[in-house]
Amino acid sequence: MDYEAWWLILIPILFGLGWIAARVDVRQMMSETRQLPDSYFKGLNFLLNEDHDKAIDAFVEVAKLDTETIELHFALGNLFRRRGEIERAIRVHQSLLSRADLPKEERDHAQHEIAQDFFKAGMLDRAEAAFKAVLDSSFAVSANRSLIRIYEAEHDWPKAIEAVKHLHKILDEPVPQLIHYYCELAQQAMQSKQPDITYIEMQLKQAEQALLKQQTALLTNAASVRIAMLRAKLLKIQADMAGERKYLEGILANAPEYAGLIAADLLDNYKQAQQAELGLDLLRQHYMSHPSLDLFKIVFSEFRGQKGAKPAWEFASESLRLHPSLLGLDKLLEVELKAAAGENGSGHEGEILPDVELSLLHKMIHKHTQRLDRYSCSSCGFQARTFYWQCPGCNMWETYAPRKLEEM
Ligand SMILES: [Zn+2]
Repeated sequence: MDYEAWWLILIPILFGLGWIAARVDVRQMMSETRQLPDSYFKGLNFLLNEDHDKAIDAFVEVAKLDTETIELHFALGNLFRRRGEIERAIRVHQSLLSRADLPKEERDHAQHEIAQDFFKAGMLDRAEAAFKAVLDSSFAVSANRSLIRIYEAEHDWPKAIEAVKHLHKILDEPVPQLIHYYCELAQQAMQSKQPDITYIEMQLKQAEQALLKQQTALLTNAASVRIAMLRAKLLKIQADMAGERKYLEGILANAPEYAGLIAADLLDNYKQAQQAELGLDLLRQHYMSHPSLDLFKIVFSEFRGQKGAKPAWEFASESLRLHPSLLGLDKLLEVELKAAAGENGSGHEGEILPDVELSLLHKMIHKHTQRLDRYSCSSCGFQARTFYWQCPGCNMWETYAPRKLEEM
């Protein structure tokens, strides 16, 4: 009996304790909730109602009242930037930066964020200044990489080179496009009326050094082809035809897929030495083992110029039989039409269609092939008639293969 009586007293006591514990919890929660300013809930409400301007104003108010909402601002700014609402992102970060009591680490963070806002908005000057302001902070690596991208977009190669050097002081990470910066400088200098040979030589040496250093990080041999092409061009400027030929033939041997880019120069080199036929033979043989449209066009028109329409037609029809190509056919018909008009159809009468049909066929095929007669960026798909080492669409390097769209 005594035992049961104890239980009867214990149960209400336990209930009482539980009730007190619950009350204490609720009170604590209430007091925590009261610490959050009303603006926070207003802001949240505006945000949920997609009224972003008022939401920002409300959150700015929160930040003024409570220093612990800095993270909220960063989240908000990031959100707006990602949504492409750059002006709003800038406003959020500016309001952070305008606070005198912001700790240094947070100030650097806000500065880095606003730099990214400017960069995304295409305000490169302001982005550059903002990134430079955090070069000595914990955001140095990221800021340095962004500066490199800015200078690339502005084609400011000396500054891009400086930025890479700066990056390499804090981080040993490969920057393969450094080779191209030096190549761009060399190429620019070669275009002047009085090329500064010593300066060009210096840039090419730097490019070669960068190539040696980063060989393992490279995905393609495009950079070494480019340097060899520039070396050949420099020797041509210096009237060293044997030297130029050595570099161009080196490309044929080491990077045969790039033949189309250098075939015209190589042919010119042979022509200058009165060896046009030898040059044509070399390119024709190369075409047999490494066919490409660009090379086909050059060999075909040279064939026609040197040996007349009939052997050119024979070469072309044989090539087209081995590697059927609409672009090739397009070029072939063009020459056939010219030959028919100029030579009154002599030489290969009966082998081809009457002129009117030939002309119609050429028009139809040409319309179709114009779209295929382009190089294309493997990164963004930008198409171009000329070959680029850096895509004008997305600023990426070595994204163009030396082949036309039809061959892809
Ligand atoms: Zn691109």
